[in-house]
Amino acid sequence: MSGRQKHANIALFIPHNGCPHQCAFCNQRTISGAVSQPTGEDVRAAVRTAMASPRYESGSSEIAFFGGSFTAIERSYMRELLEAAAVFVKDGSVAGIRISTRPDAIDGEILEILRRYGVTSIELGAQSMRDEVLQKNRRGHTAQDVVNASRLIRQYGFSLGLQMMTGLYGDDDEGARYTARQLTALHPDTVRIYPTVVLEGTELADKMRSGAYRPQGYEAAAELCAELLEFFENQGIRVIKLGLHASDGVEGSMVGGAYHPAFRELCEGILYYRLMRRMLSENYPEGGSFVVTVDRRALSKASGQKKRNVLRLREEGWKIQLKGVDLEHGEQRSKEDGRRICQIEPLSQQDSAAPAGDYRH
Ligand code: SF4
Repeated sequence: MSGRQKHANIALFIPHNGCPHQCAFCNQRTISGAVSQPTGEDVRAAVRTAMASPRYESGSSEIAFFGGSFTAIERSYMRELLEAAAVFVKDGSVAGIRISTRPDAIDGEILEILRRYGVTSIELGAQSMRDEVLQKNRRGHTAQDVVNASRLIRQYGFSLGLQMMTGLYGDDDEGARYTARQLTALHPDTVRIYPTVVLEGTELADKMRSGAYRPQGYEAAAELCAELLEFFENQGIRVIKLGLHASDGVEGSMVGGAYHPAFRELCEGILYYRLMRRMLSENYPEGGSFVVTVDRRALSKASGQKKRNVLRLREEGWKIQLKGVDLEHGEQRSKEDGRRICQIEPLSQQDSAAPAGDYRH
C-alpha cells in the first residue's frame, strides 16, 4: 500500500487477560480493567457502524484487533472474532484484517489460521533487539524470537509491522539505533516507535522512584525519535505511529517518561530544523535573512512548536520567513527533503519592505 493512500481502521480493543508476562513498562491492570471483551457481534456492529459513514472506503479500511497479544488469547475466542471479521473480508466490505501480537506467540500453525480468516497484516511488539534490555524489562522473549517470527510472517505473505520502544530500562540512544537497524534488516512494511512513558503501577515506576531508572524526558526522546523517523523513511519504511496516542488514560496514569500530546509533530519539527540549518549553513554560512518555502500543510512543523525553529535559527544568525505553497500530490513523502523544503532564497531589501509569504516571524 502506498504511503499516500487513505487508511481507516475499524479498531477493536481486545483485553489480553491471558498475557503470559508482566512487562516492566505495561500497566495491564488499567488496560484490561477498563475495557470489556468484545464479542463476534461487537465486531459485526463496529463494521456496520463504520460502513454507514459517508467517508467509509471499503478499498482501504481494515478491521484492526489491537491489544497486544492477539494470537495468545484463548483459541475459541480468537476464532469467534476472526469468523465475524472474515465475512466482511470475503464480501469485499473491508480490505483486510490486522492484528498485533508478541513475537513468541507466532508459529506456522497460527499463521495458517490467520491466513484462512483473511488476516492481511501482523504487527509484532519487538520493543528492543537487545536481549539484555528485553530481559531487564521482563518481556519474556528474545531478539531471535523477533527475527524468527518476522521471517515466518513474511514467508506466509502477510504485511509485517514492527513496534519498537526507546528509553526502556537499561537501554540508551545507541541501543535504539541498533534496534532500528536490526528491525530494518527484517524488511517490515511499517514501524511504530513508542518512547517509554512510565505508568503508575508498573515496575518501571518503582524503579524510577528508587532512583534505579531515570526515564528519558520528551525533549531528549524527540531528538532521538526524529533521527529514527528519518532513518526508517530513508529505508523506505513507513513509520505509522510515533509516540503514545494522546488519551486521558495515559495522561491520568503517567508518572514520568517521554509523553507529549503531539509527539510526532515535535519530531517532524526537529527534522525541519536540522534540514533548514544544514541548507543554510552549506549555502549561506555568513547568515542573513531568507524566505524558506515549504509545503503549505507543513508550515507549523517547519516553524516548530512555539516557533522554536525560527527562534533557534535566528540565534544562530539566520532570520527566516516561512512561505507555504501547494505541492502537488506526487511530490509528497517519496522525497522527504523535497517535500520538507522547496526553496531557500535570500530576502532582498525590497522584499523585506513588503515581505513575502503567509507565515511571518
Ligand atoms: S506489553 Fe504486551 S506482553 Fe507485556 S504485559 Fe503488556 S500486554 Fe502483556
